[in-house]
Amino acid sequence: MKNSPASAKQHGYNIDVSKTKTARMLHRLIVNGPATRGQLGSELSMSQATATRLLTPLLQMGAIQILDGFNADYTIGKPAYRVAIVPDFTAFVGVKITGDTSYAVVVNLSGKVLDQDEVQIPDDSVDAVIAILVLQISRLTQHCPISGVGIGVGGRVVDSRIVASGILEWNDVDFGDKLHEVLGIPVTVSNDVNAFAQAEAWWGAGRGCNSFVLLCIGSGLGACMVQGGAVVSGEHGSAGMIGHQQITATGPRCESGHVGCARAYASSTCILQNLRENHGIDEDYDTFIGRAASGSQPETMIADDAVKAVARLVRSAIAFIDPDAVIVSGDGVRLLEVFEDNFRRLLTQYRHWNSPPVEVKLQEMQFSFWAKGAAAASMEQWTQSGLILG
Ligand SMILES: [Zn+2]
Repeated sequence: MKNSPASAKQHGYNIDVSKTKTARMLHRLIVNGPATRGQLGSELSMSQATATRLLTPLLQMGAIQILDGFNADYTIGKPAYRVAIVPDFTAFVGVKITGDTSYAVVVNLSGKVLDQDEVQIPDDSVDAVIAILVLQISRLTQHCPISGVGIGVGGRVVDSRIVASGILEWNDVDFGDKLHEVLGIPVTVSNDVNAFAQAEAWWGAGRGCNSFVLLCIGSGLGACMVQGGAVVSGEHGSAGMIGHQQITATGPRCESGHVGCARAYASSTCILQNLRENHGIDEDYDTFIGRAASGSQPETMIADDAVKAVARLVRSAIAFIDPDAVIVSGDGVRLLEVFEDNFRRLLTQYRHWNSPPVEVKLQEMQFSFWAKGAAAASMEQWTQSGLILG
């Protein structure tokens, strides 16, 4: 399986192998926080002397700093000062594109959102979206120089090329290349769930986990696995496309005509379609959740089936991967929160008798996390490229 940082061609970056060790050190400090030289050497399999030598250019250019005070691992010899990134050394723009809106954030190296912006996309042709993004990014970065731009979009993305995006109805668009040509700075394009998982790994509920699965439930369903801090994108960029997994042999249909697939049961798109076509009820997702919570039918029955479908997906992910944790997020997590007791009861019921307990976290939806994820994916490439070292 490919991990995206190692496999991805990113427009505007040239991977320089000679800079890899320093880049790994910078990456470690961004992802896991401050460390002594000894800790860095031990974690990255190098001597403390080598770690010190590799840190020097980063210190000189102001990307990292020496923190005051001693670390607890100091025993004898020279004091073991910790080093840390300088959060505002540089910044990145992350953009989440939906069918009709572009959400953008500027984040610094510690993931702090410095600015954000939201614009409508009235025309979703490629050229029109690029024109909108260029204006949006220029506005956001007027007073804040950046080192890269990350774009998150629903669909299959390989090497910053959008192979197929259902929501935008784009096929085979070299979006990273096109946007890089206009902006003149490095651009990284990622699947939006993979980008979200990157942000969860660095700054969210996945921090500190060696491996986790992120399951997003919204207008569609998507998953992403993170292993050793890196997003696993699969051999063809399609790892985590679990939306059309069949859950039952009968049941509602999705737009693709599958009977009883996960998307048919649990996506907001299919739930509302099911209510309209099979029950003559035309309501929005908020109303559906409210009516399900109050015990109204058929909403409660449909919600119950959705919760069962998600519980089965979570259990499958645990059975295949045995991760440290599963994080469930997206707009649909609100439905799980309403029926959380039942959801957790089902997780226990579906559990293999010999499987150790795995933490399942319900993560409240924060829309900025999608855009932060795109920025994190760009930052990941920036550190991997060694571009900072010139
Ligand atoms: Zn389906």
